[in-house]
Amino acid sequence: MVKQKEISKKEKDDIRTLMKFIEIYCRENHNGEKAPFSFKLFDIREIEKKEISLCADCSRLLAYGLTMRLKCPHDPKPMCKKCDRQCYHGEYKAKIREVMKFSGMYMIKHGRVDLLYHYFR
Ligand SMILES: [Zn+2]
Repeated sequence: MVKQKEISKKEKDDIRTLMKFIEIYCRENHNGEKAPFSFKLFDIREIEKKEISLCADCSRLLAYGLTMRLKCPHDPKPMCKKCDRQCYHGEYKAKIREVMKFSGMYMIKHGRVDLLYHYFR
């Protein structure tokens, strides 16, 4: 469990990026039933005004990613690839890589390179 604290601007940026990546991935790859994403540790609408709908798998991945981001003990956060903690394990690790690759390519094709900063390089 993450203790309640102020979410920094940098954390908000990272969270927004993560949401965007997973949203694109889910929208382009999954046709199943989707539900608006909600997160128990804080109100997601404080960060992203627009509601996003995800399938159950992607919701789980995003919730995991957000939890890990908030738990990151490093300040500033290094690139995940270079971090000694490697908080993504097993299926989440494989999944987030796939998401980053897919949505990264998608953004390049659609000229949204501005969204590619920082996160998983
Ligand atoms: Zn999905």
